[in-house]
Amino acid sequence: MLNDIQQDIVKRLSNDYEMKERGEWLQQEICPSCNKKELFTRTEQPWVIRCGREKKCGFEGHTKELYPDAFANFNQRFIAT
Ligand SMILES: [Zn+2]
Repeated sequence: MLNDIQQDIVKRLSNDYEMKERGEWLQQEICPSCNKKELFTRTEQPWVIRCGREKKCGFEGHTKELYPDAFANFNQRFIAT
């Protein structure tokens, strides 16, 4: 079930932010904080997106807040079963 959400999130990040999949990483998303294409996340665990400019920016975002509906489905399905 977590796998469903993971794939959903990866698809949305690719569509919405034009993130590129490179091995186990999704990257090149534009950081909302510094506007550089430095955001990245793990393909297998896309729960947190981080800015690569750790010291200069340090932005960190949770996909649960970006896509609450993706996780809401999970809760509904979880209750249903
Ligand atoms: Zn940044």
